Amino acid sequence: MKKGNQNLYDLIIIGGGPSGMMMAGRASELGARVLLLEKNKDLGKKLRVTGGGRCNITNAEFDVRKFLDKFPQSKQFLFSPFSKFSSKDTFTFFEKKGLPLVIEARKRVFPQSQKADDVFKLLERYIRSNGGEIKTGAQVVKLSKENNKIISVETKKNEKYFAHNFAIATGGASASWTGSTGDGFKWLKKLGHTIKEPTANLVPLTTNEKWIHKLSGITLSFMTISFIQNGKAKVKKTGKILFTHFGVSGPLIINSSFEVKELLKKGSVTASIDMFPDTEENLLDQRILKLFEKNKNKFLKNILPEILPKKLAQEILKLPDINLFEREVNSITKEERKKLVKKMKKLNFEISGTLGLEKSIIADGGIILEEVNFKNMTSKLYSNLYLLGDILNINRPSGGFSLQLCWTTGYLAGSDVAEKM
Ligand SMILES: Cc1cc2nc3c(=O)[nH]c(=O)nc-3n(C[C@H](O)[C@H](O)[C@H](O)COP(=O)(O)OP(=O)(O)OC[C@H]3O[C@@H](n4cnc5c(N)ncnc54)[C@H](O)[C@@H]3O)c2cc1C
Repeated sequence: MKKGNQNLYDLIIIGGGPSGMMMAGRASELGARVLLLEKNKDLGKKLRVTGGGRCNITNAEFDVRKFLDKFPQSKQFLFSPFSKFSSKDTFTFFEKKGLPLVIEARKRVFPQSQKADDVFKLLERYIRSNGGEIKTGAQVVKLSKENNKIISVETKKNEKYFAHNFAIATGGASASWTGSTGDGFKWLKKLGHTIKEPTANLVPLTTNEKWIHKLSGITLSFMTISFIQNGKAKVKKTGKILFTHFGVSGPLIINSSFEVKELLKKGSVTASIDMFPDTEENLLDQRILKLFEKNKNKFLKNILPEILPKKLAQEILKLPDINLFEREVNSITKEERKKLVKKMKKLNFEISGTLGLEKSIIADGGIILEEVNFKNMTSKLYSNLYLLGDILNINRPSGGFSLQLCWTTGYLAGSDVAEKM
């Protein structure tokens, strides 16, 4: 079809993830003729697996400054968009549209229904009820430009669509099985933009130490983990850790992964777990001594599970530098006991790396922020090209901050298109 006919839109959005859906809904609501193109057979594949299927939709830190403290490298760019659509606005937006939200630990916000699907359905309704057009199974393969404007897109099926404005909302490079295969990065590079190459971020950590792999499935709920380089603890956090068949995971680990990754670039990193962070070493020794006195004639491997998960207790006793697995309590020397206590305060293992992009929640990298106009989320090279969500090179922790970035950039861009008309 040719330009000037029904294939001419006010706005074409490539990518039906949370950022693209929000922009499509908002621009349609304000009267724009919108087409949303998504290559998967449904919208929001990644959105529907967020928060383990529960969708940590935002973070209830309603003070914008404090919220943006979580974006240390990019906060100066984000004040303007967040002053227009903040996490408080997200809260109001979803609740007003009939999705009650609840605030959980660490101010993480979830739908009361605990269903990511409900967020997806609400957004799809938001677009359709305002007359927005959605085409799924539509993989964009080409963007065409004329001077400093994008003029059309082409799909794999050779369909060509024209518009006054375009948005790239194709996501980043994490979990590509959801559809985010980095297409937007390739187009932006071709268009003359600078892309910081993506690497896995918010990702579990790996170790080659086999005895850690054997602990798979064990959770330690209250412990302190330090990441040590050149004898110094560079990162230290307290909370929950989950052992896996490749290393360690859980929100605490995932939120340390960016810093650990940076340390690994400089040299080796040792993780050191203090399993009794509230108990000084000498007090822990007294506690163990009491346990020994009560159980003099028993095997240590049968009594240590009173204070540690059984599998963990067994693996510690088998460690070559401890070697107490087949020993009765009454045979254990003072030195051996003290060594064991030390081990419980400093359970050390080498970190070998992180899992890759496929297992990461976000990838860092994307279009560098200096090339984006944050007043309306357009490219500084192409004034009719909007850039949303994970396409931007913005690091942030887990806790609802990634989706909030999608809601803010999508809403702001959608409003801007309509204002331009
Ligand atoms: C397992 C997991 C859990 C997560 N949990 C949370 C959470 O609880 N809270 C939180 O805040 N964040 C979470 N995140 C991060 C969050 O999901 C992302 O930040 C967010 O989805 C990014 O949205 P987006 O719109 O930028 O891109 P995406 O959600 O990646 O969507 C991009 C869309 O573009 C489509 N597309 C790509 N290329 C083309 C093309 N050529 N043509 C047409 N369509 C194309 C893709 O198919 C995809 O549907 C999680 C991520 C993962 C992987």
